[in-house]
Amino acid sequence: MRQVIIVGSGPAAYTAAIYAARADLAPLVIASSVEFGGELMKTTEVENFPGFPEGIMGPELMTKMQEQAERFGAELVYDDVTKLELEGEIKRVHLGSGEVHEALAVIYATGSAYRKLGLADEERLSGYGVSWCATCDGAFFRQKKVAVVGGGDSALEEATFLTRFADTVYLVHRREELRASKAMQERAFADPKIEFLWNQEVAHIYGDEKVTGMGLVSTVDGTETTKDLDGLFVAIGADPRTHLVHGQLELAPEGTVAVRGRSSMTNLEGVFAAGDVVDPSYKQAITAAGSGCVAALDAERYLSELPAELLARAAGTAPQPQPASA
Ligand code: NAP
Repeated sequence: MRQVIIVGSGPAAYTAAIYAARADLAPLVIASSVEFGGELMKTTEVENFPGFPEGIMGPELMTKMQEQAERFGAELVYDDVTKLELEGEIKRVHLGSGEVHEALAVIYATGSAYRKLGLADEERLSGYGVSWCATCDGAFFRQKKVAVVGGGDSALEEATFLTRFADTVYLVHRREELRASKAMQERAFADPKIEFLWNQEVAHIYGDEKVTGMGLVSTVDGTETTKDLDGLFVAIGADPRTHLVHGQLELAPEGTVAVRGRSSMTNLEGVFAAGDVVDPSYKQAITAAGSGCVAALDAERYLSELPAELLARAAGTAPQPQPASA
């Protein structure tokens, strides 16, 4: 049995792991089988994480956080959690491999998952021109025409990145005002390869074997238009990954895991939540990291109040049962 298991591998999970490991809690981090490192693995340059004045590439930042956690004794498992049993003093974490790990505390930091447009052809053409990751797929669109859907920081970041490869990048937004930060907006407005299509929604994605175009509908007067395209990048935000805790953890009205005040405490004793999965508003790498720190400190305090016998079992220092003497 472990003292603490951390589910997730983004900035919140790794920061929680760094703090928990430094507090000698020997955390086990379930980092997922394919998507470890979280959303920053799919971004390009991160310019706003303090301590990196020249900027740092998202994947490099995550690798550094992981190394920092491992340096202090965090143990990583690259597997997916299939089921969580969070009630009671001893929590159980079931993995895809069939293994079941036990712990006295769980930090749930699973982040959020990309939203979909909900169009019939979106799924079918996923990987054939429809993508959620410019960093992953942008290079396939050299001298091509692509579109990015969305008006937030992600959409503008994707659009700006795609101008390295594509000749034309349409930015399709359903309003005429962007949600993205001023700095991102200014960079995109100054880029001659980005063409803004305001007050438009994508109603169709065309193409048999790969994307060949999109059908747009005006949100102002319903006018329909089409554009030829080679690629369509969806960047319309993300939803918290709460599926593993439905029916166990209380959710906030926004769909995130509900925590008490500024703490990471959920409705269940010994279960803490951190990062994008609790945050409907800020969703920054640095705020996720901060909330991971809070979760580790909360978990540490919780554990310090548990009976010594339980803690000794979790730390592997409990006296072993002795064989009966003859
Ligand atoms: P977001 O801020 O929630 O923006 C989502 C955008 O997609 C909005 O413009 C929204 O339109 C649009 N949208 C939502 N659903 C739609 C639909 N069904 N059809 C068409 N458009 C739709 O999400 P985000 O851009 O992924 O950013 C999430 C968070 O991460 C933000 O806090 C952001 O600041 C942060 N972030 C930061 C950076 C950075 O600082 N480098 C980079 C990326 C993300 P409306 O505006 O009309 O609602």
